[in-house]
Amino acid sequence: MSASQQAVMRSHRLTPEQVPETVVEQLAPVEREALVARIKRLLEQENATLVAHYYTDSALQELADATGGYVSDSLDMARFGSECPSDTLVVAGVRFMGETAKILNPEKRILMPDLGADCSLDIGCPPEEFSDFCDQHPDRTVVVYANTSAAVKARADWMVTSSIGLDVARHLTERGEKILWAPDKHLGRYIQEQTGADMILWDGACVVHEAFKAEGLAVLLQEHPGAKVLVHPESPAAVIEMADVVGSTTQLIQAVAELDADTFIVATDNGIFHRMRQAAPGKTLLEAPTAGRGATCVSCAHCPWMAMNGLRNLAAVLESGINEIQVDPAIAERARVPIARLLEFARSHKREVLGNNDA
Ligand code: SF4
Repeated sequence: MSASQQAVMRSHRLTPEQVPETVVEQLAPVEREALVARIKRLLEQENATLVAHYYTDSALQELADATGGYVSDSLDMARFGSECPSDTLVVAGVRFMGETAKILNPEKRILMPDLGADCSLDIGCPPEEFSDFCDQHPDRTVVVYANTSAAVKARADWMVTSSIGLDVARHLTERGEKILWAPDKHLGRYIQEQTGADMILWDGACVVHEAFKAEGLAVLLQEHPGAKVLVHPESPAAVIEMADVVGSTTQLIQAVAELDADTFIVATDNGIFHRMRQAAPGKTLLEAPTAGRGATCVSCAHCPWMAMNGLRNLAAVLESGINEIQVDPAIAERARVPIARLLEFARSHKREVLGNNDA
């Protein structure tokens, strides 16, 4: 990597103090059953559909499946929303997912259980600073990850997901274009290494994936020598180097189902285990370690913002109609451009991006 290719801006990674504690909703069986029944009634009454991310609580994923909703990754959630006839989508995930759903479905009402459910990549990429950074590199094509605010997407030429980022980088490189990438530096470095693209990287990171530790992974592998290691590319390079499969959430779920192994060590949010168990019942799933010797984990393999989604606040937003996502129409119009470019690219490359995307 040349000096010009190295990130030159200050770190946009969050300090531990900026990351909320991960609090998973605890419910007694009776309350859980009552809430599920209430939510089912409200979804019908409001002509609403629940779409949930793989990282949310299994109770939400089960409810989405049971009510004709959908469980997937962020872009696929938004695309499903465009196709379903409901007037209201309830997005159980983090804020940028709700925004993307609104950008692609401006006529629909988009609700979220907790508008405070953010993402360290989104927080670490403030639109004004990002715009200044783009202004400093006018010769570069701006490519942003899905995990960004609508305002950051509005400043971009392309939006990509983790599964299609490599293809887009190769495509731009073939056209002689240099890339400005944001916000995840680990995913950016992985794409750069795999494609040889000329990229400068914003210095952001996911607090969940950045916490995985290669040293602890090596110890766990010694204890389970036949295990396959599955890694999301938002993880540090040393962890990615130990992977049997590097891929997006959906690709990792596919790997568990398809690979001929009984045990998997998984370096991504442990909320994905619910879907992996459905895809490959009977296989053993182990969390990749997040604390090496002398280290501490910030998120401990579960996103604190994803954990803000629960049955109680889901019922409350359906009842009250609060927590509606709004995106400035002018920003939404501009943000739609890089998203539409990705969808068109995927179509023209005969790639199925549905079910094949990012975190
Ligand atoms: S897991 Fe990481 S990338 Fe995903 S929403 Fe949480 S902080 Fe953002």
